[in-house]
Amino acid sequence: MNTTQLKQWLTELAAVIADNRDELSKLDQALGDGDHGINMHRGFQAVLSELPNIKEEDEPAALLQKVATILISKVGGASGPLYGTAFLRMSAACKGKQTLDDETMVVALKQAAEGIAQRGKAAPGEGTLLDVWSTVANEAKETGMDWNQLEASAREGMEATKDMVVKRGRGAILGEQSVGHIDPGAVSSYYLFKTLCNTMK
Ligand code: ADP
Ligand code: MG
Ligand code: MG
Repeated sequence: MNTTQLKQWLTELAAVIADNRDELSKLDQALGDGDHGINMHRGFQAVLSELPNIKEEDEPAALLQKVATILISKVGGASGPLYGTAFLRMSAACKGKQTLDDETMVVALKQAAEGIAQRGKAAPGEGTLLDVWSTVANEAKETGMDWNQLEASAREGMEATKDMVVKRGRGAILGEQSVGHIDPGAVSSYYLFKTLCNTMK
């Protein structure tokens, strides 16, 4: 993966989030305060407007770091710092490389998932976006960067949140009543991986 592909991915992701922002906010009405689509849309539109300033020869790590900064300042809420941390960790794993090989991507995904867990004081199985990131990171580590497989893993991680009792974030207040709802952050994370896989296939 290179900077041009990264830009392609982020462009497609911003479009998918724009198309699905109402759905994301609706999911957040059931488990939170109903703003997840608005938050993510604001953040990724800001990312989109930064992309023309990124040159093909810029390192992927520089773009990933810029995305992190934008998401932290523009998305807000609980998800902004979590997505920001994921992109920061991916940036750190990619430093000094012009093209990201599979091995680098596997490490980047693992560190992103670990970063989210640390920042959110969260673990897999707690019904958050971490369930998507950790499922994808584990699958990548086990079977390598098979893009079709990774998209399927992201979907699995997302769907699994439906049966979970939410333990982190606003949904945790609901206790057992949080069961039966897909986590909004897991859905936005699924879109992130779906568009990534689409770009790389
Ligand atoms: P807020 O809850 O502040 O309104 P958002 O609605 O943008 O923020 O994001 C909510 C999403 O953030 C949740 O669906 C969940 O996936 C994720 N989330 C919230 N808190 C945590 C946490 N401590 N660890 C991991 N993920 C979390
Ligand atoms: Mg919210
Ligand atoms: Mg909010």
